[in-house]
Formats: sequence, C-alpha cells, structure tokens
Amino acid sequence: MADTIFDKIIRREIPADIVYEDDEVLAFRDLNPQAPVHVLFIPKKAIPTLDDAKPEDAALLGRLLLAIAEYARREGFAEQGYRAVSNCREYGGQTVYHLHVHLLAGRHLKWPPG
Ligand code: 5GP
Repeated sequence: MADTIFDKIIRREIPADIVYEDDEVLAFRDLNPQAPVHVLFIPKKAIPTLDDAKPEDAALLGRLLLAIAEYARREGFAEQGYRAVSNCREYGGQTVYHLHVHLLAGRHLKWPPG
C-alpha cells in the first residue's frame, strides 16, 4: 500500500500540529485551513479511501466520528455546529490517499460545497 504524507505524520517523520491521539486515531491541524478550525481526523490504519473500508473497520470508523464529536465538545464549538466531511477519490476532491475526515468549524459554512 502506498505510503502517504499522513503515514509520515503518524510515524512523526514530518511535523504536524497534533490535537488528539489515541491508539487508533490521530488528529492534526490542516496545513491549509479552510475555516478557523480545520482539523483532519485519520485512522492510524492505512485505509486509502472510504471505498476501501471493510466491514471489520466499522468500529474504527465509528471511533473516528466519535473522536470528532468529543473534540468539538471539548473545544466548545459543538453547540454552534461544525462540518465533518470525507472526500473520496477524484470527483470527491481527495488529494491524500489515506482516509481522513475534515472537521471544519468556526464560521457559518455554505452548502452545497463546490
Ligand atoms: P483531501 O483533499 O485529500 O480531502 O484533504 C487533504 C488535506 O490535507 C488538505 O486539506 C491539505 O491541506 C492537507 N494536507 C496536505 N499535506 C499536508 C501536510 O503535510 N500536513 C498537514 N497538516 N496537512 C496537509
């Protein structure tokens, strides 16, 4: 499986502003933030896209989303609201092929996205 920039962040080979970590999930600030809060939540397991996730990854994907919700509550913007979104492959706009969920918050986000 292809090594990505996010695998290097997991292995601490390149720096990142890490805001959350447990045994299966890592979260760090996006290098090119699109909102006042823009954090990427990733599984440590190398799953390239959402389409590559298997039934045995169900608990891991659940942990990923729950980690986002917990982070939003802890940081105090859960009530205000936020967006959690995962881009899948070319048409989804995915550029890094290690599954990740963007957490965007801190401004009123528009819908639909471009
Ligand atoms: P995608 O386009 O795949 O959904 O999202 C990839 C995200 O990773 C982009 O928002 C991009 O700004 C971010 N990104 C790319 N390279 C790095 C990096 O080296 N460090 C961090 N923190 N974010 C990165």
